[in-house]
Amino acid sequence: MPLIYRAANLVEAQLVVDELRAGGMQAHITGSYLSGAIGELPPSEIIGVWLEQAQHHDRARSIIDDFEAARQQEERDWRCSHCQESVGREFGACWQCGRPRPVR
Ligand SMILES: [Zn+2]
Repeated sequence: MPLIYRAANLVEAQLVVDELRAGGMQAHITGSYLSGAIGELPPSEIIGVWLEQAQHHDRARSIIDDFEAARQQEERDWRCSHCQESVGREFGACWQCGRPRPVR
């Protein structure tokens, strides 16, 4: 069972697992949170996402690459739901049609 991803936090790890699951692959999260106190944030280094089946590794890797690229894109720009314009993250409304930025 190969380690496929090291997550910065548990939310991110869960997102990766969900992406893989959507692609038909099973994955597990490991980390100290399993034995830690409830509500305590685990140190990031030890949150790992493990792929259940090693033969899916390449496919899982490409899903994760897409996921990371999408996340980085998200941090830069947002896309207007009305006119599909890509708007810089510092803007609170679409510069083309004036729609307010959607709440995520
Ligand atoms: Zn717009």
